[in-house]
Amino acid sequence: MIKTLEYVDTPNEQPARTSVVIIGGGIVGINAALTLAERNIPVVVIEKGFVGAEQSSRNLGWIRKTNRHAEDIPLALASDELWAGMSKRVNRDVDYKQSGILFLAENAKQMGAYEAWLDSVKSLELDSTLLSTEEIKAKVPGGKGQWVGGIYTASDGRAEPAIATSAMAKAAMEKGAVIIQNCAVRHLSLSGGKVSGVVTEKGEILCEQVLLAGGAWSKAFLSHHGVSLPSLPLICSVLRSKPMDGPTDIAVAGPNFSFRKHLDGGFVIMQRGAIEARLTLDHFLIGHRYLGQLKHQRDALRISLGRHFIEDLKMSKRWSRNKSSMFEEIRVMNPDHNKGLNQEALTHLRAAWPSFQEAEIAEEWGGLIDITPDSKPVIDSIDAIPGLTIATGFSGHGFGTGPAAGMLAADLVSGMTPLINPEPYKFSRW
Ligand SMILES: Cc1cc2nc3c(=O)[nH]c(=O)nc-3n(C[C@H](O)[C@H](O)[C@H](O)COP(=O)(O)OP(=O)(O)OC[C@H]3O[C@@H](n4cnc5c(N)ncnc54)[C@H](O)[C@@H]3O)c2cc1C
Repeated sequence: MIKTLEYVDTPNEQPARTSVVIIGGGIVGINAALTLAERNIPVVVIEKGFVGAEQSSRNLGWIRKTNRHAEDIPLALASDELWAGMSKRVNRDVDYKQSGILFLAENAKQMGAYEAWLDSVKSLELDSTLLSTEEIKAKVPGGKGQWVGGIYTASDGRAEPAIATSAMAKAAMEKGAVIIQNCAVRHLSLSGGKVSGVVTEKGEILCEQVLLAGGAWSKAFLSHHGVSLPSLPLICSVLRSKPMDGPTDIAVAGPNFSFRKHLDGGFVIMQRGAIEARLTLDHFLIGHRYLGQLKHQRDALRISLGRHFIEDLKMSKRWSRNKSSMFEEIRVMNPDHNKGLNQEALTHLRAAWPSFQEAEIAEEWGGLIDITPDSKPVIDSIDAIPGLTIATGFSGHGFGTGPAAGMLAADLVSGMTPLINPEPYKFSRW
């Protein structure tokens, strides 16, 4: 787990019955639980490790509309509103700030891509604007990089991942949700073809509805029940600096670095131009479905074939309800971080903003993201298994949309009018 993750104290005993079981205590599952608890719907979250310990605490904390798929923006706008009221809603600080996000372009091609994106979202009337070289110098002083321009959205922002999901979980419990940690769900129980409960490592919980919000594990869980979800793992490496004087409060993305201010005054930094594909069998089996994305991201992918391939093959993909499952084998997915990539990020960043010469590393970590072929999640009920809804596949940008995604999933589960049109997130698009 990352050092700053706020621990949530939860009970050991799981209830025998509830209305809704949520599999996964990440930001999506926890926000669905918070919403259901506020609607007085009995809900139990089962988390195999710890609340927020996987993607939801390892991410960069960016909350953005900039460069998002146009279809995904209504979810991001709904989430912005939820973030704005979140500290009050959960009665705890989640460190949400609309501090702005800036993407830099080092050549005309990159600038052209930002212009094309801005054009594609024109009808949504976002506050995103193109910036000139001079405007960038004024916004983020002290830079030495040669930028032809950039795109800036003042209403984008950040929250602190290490505390946000935990704060939401504590509030969900105060409002009536039950959260059980260190407990894996192994199976769905089905009666007459419909969901009637789940089998966890502590026994069975009877329920009418299950929401699977299992992040990178959802694919394996669904596959165990005969449902195929295309999703592939990629690994990002991140570092956090000790508190320091940085150039700005704005989160900034260059071609080969990114930074944003941390709650303690340090910076969270990543080599933005390098994501690792540590190959597994799935990369070979379904990699062809990602050719569209590869066109844009080929230069950023660092592909390796090594021990991960064997480790993944060895992990048992089939289990019975009485035997330990893969979810108990790995309580918290904690991929090795790549020190080389973190050093690259620092080198590029120091060249662009020399004030980062004084950055000292406080912590480094790896995070595994679950990418779908169109980079959009699935938030939908599964026709083949009545009573099962899924909210998964957030493709490396689900922290920002997590509050709205969780609420939308809760709407689907409880049969309420959906927060936004759920059409872009249909499972049937596969
Ligand atoms: C390095 C990195 C940087 C990122 N940066 C950003 C960013 O700046 N902005 C942004 O918007 N997004 C970002 N993301 C993506 C974002 O973190 C994720 O999209 C989001 O957290 C997904 O939330 P989740 O709840 O779906 O998954 P998770 O947080 O992974 O939670 C899923 C949970 O389900 C549990 N689980 C799974 N199966 C079972 C089971 N069978 N039984 C019990 N529990 C189970 C897991 O243990 C896990 O805790 C980043 C991700 C990473 C890794």
